[in-house]
Amino acid sequence: MALSDIQSRLDTAVADAGRAPGSVTLIAVSKVQPPERVEAVLGEGHRIFGENRVQEAQGRWPQFQARYDGIELHLIGPLQTNKARQAVEMFDAIHTLDRPKLANTFARLAQERGTCPDLFIQVNTGEEPQKAGCLPAEADAFIAEARKMDLPVKGLMCIPPVEEEASLHFALLAKIAERNGLDGLSMGMSADFEKAVKFGATHVRVGSAIFGERVYA
Ligand SMILES: *Cc1c(COP(=O)(O)O)cnc(C)c1O
Repeated sequence: MALSDIQSRLDTAVADAGRAPGSVTLIAVSKVQPPERVEAVLGEGHRIFGENRVQEAQGRWPQFQARYDGIELHLIGPLQTNKARQAVEMFDAIHTLDRPKLANTFARLAQERGTCPDLFIQVNTGEEPQKAGCLPAEADAFIAEARKMDLPVKGLMCIPPVEEEASLHFALLAKIAERNGLDGLSMGMSADFEKAVKFGATHVRVGSAIFGERVYA
């Protein structure tokens, strides 16, 4: 089964990198996948999932949560400020904090609710105009700003440009995290998660390699 293959490839990559067993979290990215594929992965005992849309997650996870204990949900897609409340209510971690306005909204919600999901700041390492994320040159200042708001910033996240060598982007993200004293690195997908582990990923986001190709309606 694909899940156990990916988990064992991940374990091997972690060992090859000389890192501690279990030090990298496998997020199974279930966006767009039909419910029976998601259910099969739940049935194998996996509990950590990634979705990229709040609405899609709301549409299906409450049913699964009613039947399976210990599900942990990560938001890995861009978040509109007007969906922030629904997002903090639904997700255990949000990987796409990328601008002051959203940080302000999270801070307000954290104050009101007394709790906040773990946060990763998305960095647009390839400086692609169509992609979300703060620019690398602005990352230090934005990290400091988010911390001043007492937000639980656990690390950084990136999505390398498809046509470029991912390693350069993983290395850049790791460098920004290190100089800011952040441990978490959300990087690596189906095609390159083993490489990301080499560069220090703590969270890999793997979709199609676990569930099969996504079929968009
Ligand atoms: C879809 C998606 C993934 C998973 O991509 P695969 O190539 O299917 O593993 C990972 N991260 C983000 C941000 C995504 O949107």
